[in-house]
Amino acid sequence: RKIIITIDGYSSCGKSTLAKQLAKELNYVFVDSGAMYRAITLYFLRNHIDWNMTEEVVGALPNITLDFAYNDLDGTSDMIMNDENVEMLIREMLVSENVSEVAAVKEVRAFAVAQQQQMGLKKGIVMDGRDIGTTVFPNAELKIFVTADPAVRVERRYRELFLKNPHITIEEIRDNLEMRDYIDSNREVSPLRKAEDAIVLDNSNLTKEEQLTKVLGWVKEKLN
Ligand code: C5P
Repeated sequence: RKIIITIDGYSSCGKSTLAKQLAKELNYVFVDSGAMYRAITLYFLRNHIDWNMTEEVVGALPNITLDFAYNDLDGTSDMIMNDENVEMLIREMLVSENVSEVAAVKEVRAFAVAQQQQMGLKKGIVMDGRDIGTTVFPNAELKIFVTADPAVRVERRYRELFLKNPHITIEEIRDNLEMRDYIDSNREVSPLRKAEDAIVLDNSNLTKEEQLTKVLGWVKEKLN
């Protein structure tokens, strides 16, 4: 039997890392729903689409196709937008600075959520995001809500981004995380919330291995 596992939480809590590990371990499909919002944001920025104008958004969305390319060796996935691998580009600061505004647009969410639900028709999926347990898969068998101390999150994010961009500062990262968490939690359409039936996982003091072991235990329970 295969199930749907949802992983939600604030920015940079290690949701994708956990989701990737789980998918690899269980032989499930990993879906990074945030990458979809990031790719849409990149498209809007490049094509000068004003996301505050409904007609512009509605006109642009049908021109965007989103796919994931999976690398079986390391379990990672790359975002493919209109046949272009945009995995690196969607992680850039300009996208991070605008993605939460774009993701707050009702039509954008409807567009992304419909595709996410389609992927869920085939069971054996681990999807991470902000509203997966509440809106995308309200009936998922296992829902996890990840949290971590803000200082730990900033530090982890810094170490990750510094490799790609040595000019980045701790302050920039902290500001961006706080801003995204604020917008994500306060938007009108499916704001970031813990689903009532989600299990809280605080990983501030857990190694990746400890975290994985814990969650695999929960999966086992669900499958019994
Ligand atoms: O997961 P990641 O940090 O890459 O997501 C980027 C942004 O996409 C989030 O800050 C949020 O604004 C948006 N997002 C969302 N719903 C999801 C996943 C991401 O609104 N399910």
